[in-house]
Amino acid sequence: MIDLHTHSTVSDGSDPPGRIPEMAAAAGCRAVALTDHDSLAGVEEARVRAGELGIGFVPGCEISCRSPGSGSMHVLVYFVEDDDRPLAAELEALRADRHRRNLTLADRLGQLGLPITYDEVRAAAGSEAGMGRPHFAQVLVANGAADSIQDAFDRYLAAGRPGYVAKSRLEGPDVARMARASGGVTVLAHPFSLGLDGPELANTIEALAAAGFDGIEAFYGRYRPEQRAALADLARRFGLVATGGSDYHGVVKPDLAVGTGHGDLKVPDSVLDALENRRP
Ligand code: AMP
Ligand code: FE
Ligand code: FE
Ligand code: ZN
Repeated sequence: MIDLHTHSTVSDGSDPPGRIPEMAAAAGCRAVALTDHDSLAGVEEARVRAGELGIGFVPGCEISCRSPGSGSMHVLVYFVEDDDRPLAAELEALRADRHRRNLTLADRLGQLGLPITYDEVRAAAGSEAGMGRPHFAQVLVANGAADSIQDAFDRYLAAGRPGYVAKSRLEGPDVARMARASGGVTVLAHPFSLGLDGPELANTIEALAAAGFDGIEAFYGRYRPEQRAALADLARRFGLVATGGSDYHGVVKPDLAVGTGHGDLKVPDSVLDALENRRP
């Protein structure tokens, strides 16, 4: 089995990049991908550790895009390195915009009278570079303004809530084009997050396939067996690879483990071979 979706302290996970292959190996994975938000900065450390442990490693990242539905669209890019252009330049721009958003978000939460400062969030994140909303949520919980990370999102941080501050978003097809030009492949993460269902979901996935996407994440840690099967069917219909992963984040999503997700995840090794075959 393999795990193609994990986060480290480089973004909003709570384990350093080198820990991810350790947990993957312990869970019985033959290969693992690191897919931090907007950054490939953890890839080298994770690759070295995976090599020491004798398991395969896939460098990757996750990019938030404009959603065609009412929800969010996250896109995973694999087989790209920190200096691969044009993607690397775009990631740098996204990180700059994230920094701007974080400063504005801290101000906004302060204006709402909530007990939180930018410096506290930076301390929770461990560094300024990987700061994200889950770190704001952690501080809101620690300071008594929310009962849990989910509660902090539901009350303040989610889209449509009073603390929400938008980040700039790319178009999915643009990410696919840049990924390909950078030697990578593109996968739609947790497709049900789009907020689409039935024919609308199918039409959207068909359009993404036509726009150069290589796969969709069917075997996702938080999806039920029938949801995974429905997505695998859509992948087959549109000539896409049905990929999978846990979306492990450590304490930010404490219900998920590397490799096994909720305990029932088992992404076959053949998924990685299929993805390798899509490399430009
Ligand atoms: P950011 O990229 O800083 O805007 O944060 C996005 C991350 O926050 C996502 O990758 C999730 O880990 C988390 N997240 C986003 N929306 C929610 C939500 N409604 N509930 C819980 N976690 C969320
Ligand atoms: Fe995240
Ligand atoms: Fe995501
Ligand atoms: Zn993720």
